[in-house]
This record gives sequence, C-alpha cells and structure tokens, in this order.
Amino acid sequence: MNKEEFIEYMAPMATAAINYALILPSVTIAQACLESAYGTSDLAVNAHNVFGMKAELSGNTWPSAWDGTSIYTKKSPEQDEQGNTTYLESDFRRYPDVQQSVIDHTLYLAGAMKGSELRYKGLVGELSYRKAAQIIKDGGYATDINYVDKICSIIETYDLTLYDVFGIGAGNKMTKICIDAGHYGKYNQSPCNSAYYESDMVWKLHLLLKKHLEEYNGVEIITTRPNQETDRVLYDRGAASKGCNLFISLHSNATASAKRESIDYPAAYCAINHSADEIGLKLAKCVEMVMQTQQEGHIENVPGKNGDYYGVVRGATAVGTPGLILEHSFHTNSRSTAWLMDDGNLERLAEAEAAVIAEHYGLTKKQTSYIPGWYSDDIGWWYRNEDGSYPAGTWAWLHEATGDTWAWYLFDERGYMLKGAHRAPDGRLFYLCEDPGINEGKCMVTDDQGALQIAEYDTVAKRYLI
Ligand SMILES: [Zn+2]
Repeated sequence: MNKEEFIEYMAPMATAAINYALILPSVTIAQACLESAYGTSDLAVNAHNVFGMKAELSGNTWPSAWDGTSIYTKKSPEQDEQGNTTYLESDFRRYPDVQQSVIDHTLYLAGAMKGSELRYKGLVGELSYRKAAQIIKDGGYATDINYVDKICSIIETYDLTLYDVFGIGAGNKMTKICIDAGHYGKYNQSPCNSAYYESDMVWKLHLLLKKHLEEYNGVEIITTRPNQETDRVLYDRGAASKGCNLFISLHSNATASAKRESIDYPAAYCAINHSADEIGLKLAKCVEMVMQTQQEGHIENVPGKNGDYYGVVRGATAVGTPGLILEHSFHTNSRSTAWLMDDGNLERLAEAEAAVIAEHYGLTKKQTSYIPGWYSDDIGWWYRNEDGSYPAGTWAWLHEATGDTWAWYLFDERGYMLKGAHRAPDGRLFYLCEDPGINEGKCMVTDDQGALQIAEYDTVAKRYLI
C-alpha cells in the first residue's frame, strides 16, 4: 500500500468510528498515518495496532474495545535526560483487525480520564481539526512539540476534511434542531391522574419549545409529526433529523410499578457516541431546576445490540445528528403529574429549555419587547422585564402590582416572589409581607443598604419585632 492507498483504506474505518464518539475522521486518519508510518510500522503489520496504543493507558478505566489480554511486546527506544538512547521492552495492544484498533483509539480519546476530568475534554464534537489536534496534544497524547502541525499538514496535504462530511451542521449558518413529540394519540396514561397522558403533554411541550426556540436568531426547527394522531416508527423519527445539530425526543418517565411517589427525577438518555452528553446534562439540570424534582437530573448512555438502545437515538446517530431523549421526571408520581398538567408550567419549562439550547449553540434572542409588569400563576407572583427576562434568585426594586409605590422584593431561583421571614447571608432577619393585597411580598422595613431588615422576626408569633 502506498500512502494514498493507506488513507483510502483507513477512511471508512475512521468514519464508522464516529458511531462510538464524534471525533473528526480527518484527525483519526492523520493520526494513523503518523503513528503507523502509513501502515508500515512493526506494530501495524504484526498487531493491527495503527496508533501505537500501549497495553496500559490512563489507568485503563475507560470503556475499551481491546480484549485486555492480547499483547505484542516490542523494544522501543526511550531517551533519558542526557539524551542517551536505551531500548526498553513495552507491551502494546494486539487487535484482531485494524477496525478494532480504530474503535479502541476513538473510545480512548473520548473516555480516558485524568483525575476526575476527561483527559481530552472538548474533543468529542469539536469540528475544527486544528483545535481537535491541539486538544489531543494538550491531553498528553504526544510529547513532540510539532505534533499539531504534523497532523494538520497531513490533513491538508491529502484533503482529509473530505471525510468530515456528516450532518452535524458543520459549516451550517443556521442551527437546525429536530424536536420529537415522544408518543402519538392517547398514550401512557398516568396512574396518578387518569386525565394525564404522556402523549398529550409532549405534544404541547414540543410546540411550546418550538415557539420559544424560534424567538432566537439563526435557528430552524423541524418536528417529526404533522399532528398528534400520526404514528411514525422510532428509527425514522430520529433519522428525520438529518442535517440537524440536535435531535430531542420529549417524554415523561414511568416506573415499572403503577405508582411510586418517591421516584422523581429528570434524565437525558444521550447517544452512546457521547455527541449529545453536554447539552443533555444541561437540559436534565434545567428540568430539575424548573420542576423542582426530588432527585437530581442526570444523563445516561444506553447501548443496545445494534448501537444505541433507543430507536430514535439510533436513527439520529445513523444520520450523524447528536441525539437524546429527555424525560421530564415521572408521571407515576402525583406531584410531577400535577405539575406537568399545568399549561403555565409547560410554558415556563419550554422557555427555560429553549434558553439552555440557545446558550449552548450561542444563539442570540430576536428583539422582542414585552409589557413589563407583574404576572401570577398557580405557584405565585413573578415579574417580567421589558426584554422578557425576569428576576430570579435576587432582590429587585419594583413598583407595586396595583399601585405606583416602589419597594424591594425577593425572588427565588425559579423567579417567584418570596413572602414571610428570610435570613440574609449575614444573619440578619427581614420580613416580606404575607398579606394578600397591595403590600404582598414587599420588604416592609428597609435600612440604608436597601432591603435588609434589622428587626428580629418572631417565627412563632409570625411578626417582626422592631
Ligand atoms: Zn415516553
């Protein structure tokens, strides 16, 4: 094989490896060229090891494709500090074929740890080959100070970016997102409330999410069903995301038994190639915060027989789209079921999820102006600013809902106005009026720094002592 033939031989294997982790095929091919001297090295010829992967790598705690026992022992030159060369015997991984070497290398780069952090953090999903090569170098893959330039030079000489064509929006001016309402018709009735169907909730939520995402610039949203009554197979819905930057399937979860009040957490089931892990975790945490679930939001990667376990995610991966399933806690617990049946809650949820997605893809909001003022829903009062934002986890100096006197108000992390006694970080107590009406929520006595009240609050008598 000459150099060009070796590249043609490696290309389909590097492209197939993106099903395990989204690492640019151009970079993988260039690394193989460099590490194996275009397939001619002793290790490549005798052990199908084209990346010089040693038996011991980063503690071997990452999910590997190597069987853990097949070894090729080879003498390799090592230089000491004085520059004297000695030959040391080292154990290298032996693979049944080169494809296994490529998969193992991809899994290593995606999963190897350095302390509690990923060794090559940011590599998966990186679309610039120079940045990707730099991440690999910085993670300690190579000591050669010219490593990045050598990789880039091979990519440029042989036009290897031709192999980086997959639908993850590389070079797209628009950010394209595919939203899937997880079920059709009347499906998955809640055991806690017979009026709740998962299919109803996700139909509403996916339309709201579309609406809120379309408030941002440079974004195109597609959905997978023309109406709630239309059934479509799982794989096709995922594959409908071809050319998109993200595929999201919306759901609420269920425990095996009918009703489990104690199980209450959001989860994002992300593609096993880890391409959607980062956005998946952000979304799971967002749902946890907005729904105030009892347990924390987290992500999982679930492998099946033919790649991803979940059909929609498998379909998305097949067309190169980072895909995930987002579970909005469980409709087998009464609290979450009731929460998800409130249209106002779904509106806030969709708005928050859209904001997370927008932040992740660097989208800016279209200029819209709102009428600033107080709004109330089932949970309580909140305040909308002119740009649509709202105070959350902070004090705000605002006018009354029905008058024009100004006062300090305190908002919780979700943006709802707080009432009653609160202790400031410096230990002082202050009181926010609990009586409905014009004074509701107001900080009743303020000192010269604004809102913080010096008076003692009697929690038994429920009044503050001046
Ligand atoms: Zn579901």
